[in-house]
Amino acid sequence: MSQTGSTLSRVDVAALNPCQQSVLSDLIDYGGERQVFDPGLAAGLRRELEDALVDLAHSYTARQPFVISKSRLSHVSTCEGLFLGRARDVFEMTRPMAVGILTHKAVERLMVDPRRHRHPRSVARHVIEIATSDDDTLGTWLDGLDPEETAEIAGQVSNLATDFVAQWPPVDAGWFPRVESRAAAVLCADRVKLAARYDLALGKPHGMQARTLIVDLKTGTAGYTHLGEVRFYALIETLRHGVPPYRVALHSLETGGHHAEVVTEEMLFATTNWVAEGARAMHEVTTALRDPELSPGPACTWCPVRETCEPGQDWSAG
Ligand code: SF4
Repeated sequence: MSQTGSTLSRVDVAALNPCQQSVLSDLIDYGGERQVFDPGLAAGLRRELEDALVDLAHSYTARQPFVISKSRLSHVSTCEGLFLGRARDVFEMTRPMAVGILTHKAVERLMVDPRRHRHPRSVARHVIEIATSDDDTLGTWLDGLDPEETAEIAGQVSNLATDFVAQWPPVDAGWFPRVESRAAAVLCADRVKLAARYDLALGKPHGMQARTLIVDLKTGTAGYTHLGEVRFYALIETLRHGVPPYRVALHSLETGGHHAEVVTEEMLFATTNWVAEGARAMHEVTTALRDPELSPGPACTWCPVRETCEPGQDWSAG
C-alpha cells in the first residue's frame, strides 16, 4: 500500500483556538498522508462476513432482512439480556435523545448554511420549529411540550451547538460535509443489512485512496466502549464504497476531547469478526435457540429489565 498527501482546502490555522487546532491536527489530520488501499479489500471483507453469516441468513428475506445496527451490536456485546430487553422495549422518545437529534440538526445547519454569522441560539430555535412541524416521533414529542420545556431544550441545543462551533474549525464546503448521513451495506443476497447513520462525515475517496473521515459526535463523554461503534462505520463505508475511510473518530462536545483511529486492514477484519459474533448472538437469543448470557455491570443501572433480573439487582446492590 502506498501513501500520498491529502488535498483539503486551506485553513487559517493561526485564527483557530487551541481546541480547534487540536481537532484539525489530531482528529482530522489536516494535510496528513492518506493511505491507498488494495482494490480487493472490500471483496475480502464481504466474503468473510458472508461465510460467517450465510447459515443464519436463510432465516430472513430480502423484504425483511436481518438488520445489524450500531446500537444492537453495542447492546448485545454489553449483555445479551440487555439486548433482548431493548429489542422488546416499545420505543419512546426521551429528552436526552431529542436533544441529541436536535443538536445534530443544528450542527448541520451551522455547517451547510451559507449565512455563517447565524448564532447557534437562533439556529436551535429554527431546527426545533421545523422538527415540531414534522409528523414523526420527534415532532409529536416536541408538540406535546409546554413552552417552558421547549425553551429549556432550545437552550441545551444552543449550548451544544455553540460548543461545536467553539471546538471545530470552520468546515469548508469543499470537505463535502454530511451530517446524520444514512449508510448501509447488504450481504447474503440482501438478507442481511448493516445499517448506520453517521453523525458527521467529511471528504470522499479518490480512486483507492482513503479520504473520508467519519465522526461520532457525543453530547456526553466519549468512552472507549464506543470505539467498536465507529469501527463498524468504517466497515460499512468500505463495503459500500470499496474504499475505507482514512480515520474514524469520537468527539465529545461535553469535554471537547476526541479519540481518532487510523483505519487499517487489520482493524477492518477484526471488526468483521466482532460483527459476525454479535450478529450470531442476536440471532440465537431472538429466535430462542439458546438463553441469553447475562453480563452484569454498569449497564444494569439503565437496563429496561433490571427490575426482574436477579444478577442485575445483585450487581446494583454492590
Ligand atoms: S439488568 Fe444487567 S445483567 Fe440483567 S439483563 Fe440488564 S444489563 Fe444484563
